[in-house]
Amino acid sequence: MDTKNRNKILCCLSNANKNPITELSFKTPFELLISVILSAQSTDISVNKVTSQLYAFAQKPEDIIYLGINRLKCFIKNIGLYNLKARYIIQTCEILLKKYDGIVPNCRKRLESLPGVGRKTANIILNTIFNKKTIAVDTHVFRVCNRTHFVLGNTPLEVEKKLIKVVPDIFKLKFHNLFVLHGRYICKSRNPKCKTCIINKYCEYDSKYR
Ligand code: SF4
Repeated sequence: MDTKNRNKILCCLSNANKNPITELSFKTPFELLISVILSAQSTDISVNKVTSQLYAFAQKPEDIIYLGINRLKCFIKNIGLYNLKARYIIQTCEILLKKYDGIVPNCRKRLESLPGVGRKTANIILNTIFNKKTIAVDTHVFRVCNRTHFVLGNTPLEVEKKLIKVVPDIFKLKFHNLFVLHGRYICKSRNPKCKTCIINKYCEYDSKYR
């Protein structure tokens, strides 16, 4: 895809949604961190359901530690991989308290050293909380980029590196949420809604409805 088409897509999506935000519910950086850890292979809706109850009891790392792993598991048991995620969350809270005074760090290396936090999660935290021009590539961003030919890549990291090069700075802060929302509601994995898609004429998907 050429630069002109990419910019058309960015302008179209951006004009249609001036302030794209995550659909995860959170009030603090810590809550967002926990919600993103929980969201791996789970929907935002299912995460919000459990966190609405969890965060009523625990809003800080020390609260989660006080809760303990068994009670934490009870809160999050409707989320996939909850046993593993509970372990990650307890370990992450311990590290936050021990090394960072209970505060979510604003640096990639420190974030990625936390259990359950990979590159994608770090990018989301850096972007959403600390306004860094990082681009998190999740399943929606990966699919939409490859399908539309916005950028092509075999891995999320390959796509992310290309995006960082081609997405103009003014769009970097909002890019992740713009593409996530487009992928979640329009350019779905199955049955993309090409007929009503606002970027149809710029999209280079071979099978799109014309
Ligand atoms: S035209 Fe279809 S394939 Fe292209 S972005 Fe829109 S929904 Fe996705």
